[in-house]
Amino acid sequence: MHARDAVFLEDLCPKLRVRHWRQSLHIHTDQSCIYCGKQSESIDHVLPRSRGGLSVTENCVPACLSCNGRKSDTDVFEWYRRQRFYDPRRAMAIRAWLDGDLKLALRLLQWASPAVTAETKPAATKHTQPKPSTGPGWTLQAA
Ligand SMILES: [Zn+2]
Repeated sequence: MHARDAVFLEDLCPKLRVRHWRQSLHIHTDQSCIYCGKQSESIDHVLPRSRGGLSVTENCVPACLSCNGRKSDTDVFEWYRRQRFYDPRRAMAIRAWLDGDLKLALRLLQWASPAVTAETKPAATKHTQPKPSTGPGWTLQAA
């Protein structure tokens, strides 16, 4: 196929291209909501389209339907700070995402505890002592 034909096809089926792009966003976060960590079922426009937000990666984050719906048209950070599942690491990840630094955003998301496992973890594990180690990290753990 000629290269020009491929371009023509993409122009002909913009919907197909949008679908691929949306899928790629979900794959970035392993299908998890950037706000709460649950399964992402939708794409949230951080700056709503009604306020001129564009459908570009820097403005679109994977979100579950619940977060997407509740956030609505409010400022994303203002809304997110009020949530029970607020996690400063996720807030930083969202900021990095909006800056277009997906690499940093994804690293911060990995660092943030996924909401689902945090809820199901038995409370008893909280009191387990860290194993004493002779490594350089020991003094940090003792503090
Ligand atoms: Zn969510």
